[in-house]
Amino acid sequence: MSDLSAVLEHWEPVIGLEVHAQLSTRTKMFCGCRNSYGAPPNSYTCPTCLGLPGALPVANEQAVNFALRLGLALGCEITQLSRFARKNYFYPDLTKGYQISQYDEPLCVGGQVTIRWGNEVKDIALTRIHMEEDAGKSIHAENGDGTKVDFNRCGVPLVEIVSEPVIQSPEEAKAYLVRLKQILEYLNICDCNMEEGNLRCDANISVRPLGESKFGVKTEMKNMNSFRGVERGLTSEIVRQAQVLDEGGEVEQVTLLWNEAEQKAEVMRSKEEAHDYRYFPDPDLVPLSVSDDNLHSIRSSLVEMPYEREERFVNQYGLRLEDSLVLTSEKSLADYFEETVSAGAEPAEATKWIMGEVLSIIKDGGMSVSSFPVTPDQFAGLLNSVKNGTVNVATGKDILRRMVKSDLTAAEIIKKEGLAQVSDESALSEAVAQVVANNPDELGRYREGKKALFGFFMGEVMKVTGGKSDPNVVKKLLTSSLESD
Ligand code: ADP
Ligand code: MG
Ligand code: ZN
Repeated sequence: MSDLSAVLEHWEPVIGLEVHAQLSTRTKMFCGCRNSYGAPPNSYTCPTCLGLPGALPVANEQAVNFALRLGLALGCEITQLSRFARKNYFYPDLTKGYQISQYDEPLCVGGQVTIRWGNEVKDIALTRIHMEEDAGKSIHAENGDGTKVDFNRCGVPLVEIVSEPVIQSPEEAKAYLVRLKQILEYLNICDCNMEEGNLRCDANISVRPLGESKFGVKTEMKNMNSFRGVERGLTSEIVRQAQVLDEGGEVEQVTLLWNEAEQKAEVMRSKEEAHDYRYFPDPDLVPLSVSDDNLHSIRSSLVEMPYEREERFVNQYGLRLEDSLVLTSEKSLADYFEETVSAGAEPAEATKWIMGEVLSIIKDGGMSVSSFPVTPDQFAGLLNSVKNGTVNVATGKDILRRMVKSDLTAAEIIKKEGLAQVSDESALSEAVAQVVANNPDELGRYREGKKALFGFFMGEVMKVTGGKSDPNVVKKLLTSSLESD
């Protein structure tokens, strides 16, 4: 990283990302096979996705609608009549000998992704979003003994999201990817599990002298399949290019493969080996036509995008930006917060409790937000019991954990277990007197100036009263008892 900051004093990185996202449709892009990860190899195949002669593809309407959802959410212009194209190449795991993609008529053109990192906000302009099909998966035997091909992934629908070369640092690139993932999740069109390859990123990288407007020669880096990998791969390539140029050399236009284990890039092919894909319109498919009605209905059912929601939480509920970012990180969490507030909780209290208790219960229990068993209504009920003093905060936290394990409401648990807070002074002063009388040593030291022992006395009173007493009343009674006499 320190290498990078030295480089950035003289060089400006230019980065453009090509992100492939698998759409979470029920079936594949051009056939009726199931689109599902993790099944036994080759259990979801048919003549079409195996590329057998004579089998004909038909475009998947749900996949097109998912891509339109993304395009409209990102402000792209929609190409209402577009054609699929054949991208010809020898793919061992795409047996037709070509990939069905889109070439000069992509479904979505332009648009932007608003990213945020630190205190910065920036719109990253998109070139296009087009649809294509995924290839199968080659599995090379560890001992070099041959390669097996699993065609379950073959024909899975993809969108390729291509950015303009406007990303200026590895950090920005990471923020862009994090945001794209979040948007795909908000739109519910991709599972976004990077380990399962649902979301994959290729980067184009060049550097130019600070202040120069002409682009430098770019390289393309593939296989950076984690956010960390992207940051590291880009950093290493920017530093490498700057070194080559600093030494008076020239950057060669190559395709690199990022090796995460060894933290270095390997050359995959040079420009001389670049492919001519001989694109042409696929004669097996009718042109893709998108009606005004369809566009209108997709547009009107779009959910609010994360950037807008982040801003609205700050303005509408008075949250701090950093809290708003946590609450909106996942749509289901943001929904949970808003439903809790609608059910009568105060926004500040709901924020504090969700970010503290709810998230830690979810994490400890290995749950997801959507499977958190306490409904927003029940949760708001608990927050109100704390707010109106029926129970104290510590008991409230305890009750929440019990609610997770049972179907009872906070009120039912309070009643059943007699947890209501005791704030009656006469009842509590008895406990206070008892604790003070039982601990003469501590009392002596306290009176000699060891004021930190106050916490000890508080704890003892809480213990004696089963944790139910109102801490403010106990504090008041203890203070007068310890300080007097
Ligand atoms: P290619 O023809 O090599 O596929 P494109 O012009 O289609 O290149 O761009 C592919 C990606 O490379 C886009 O994301 C684009 O923003 C990015 N890109 C183009 N030129 C540069 C450059 N000089 N430096 C970095 N990225 C670039
Ligand atoms: Mg491409
Ligand atoms: Zn099939």
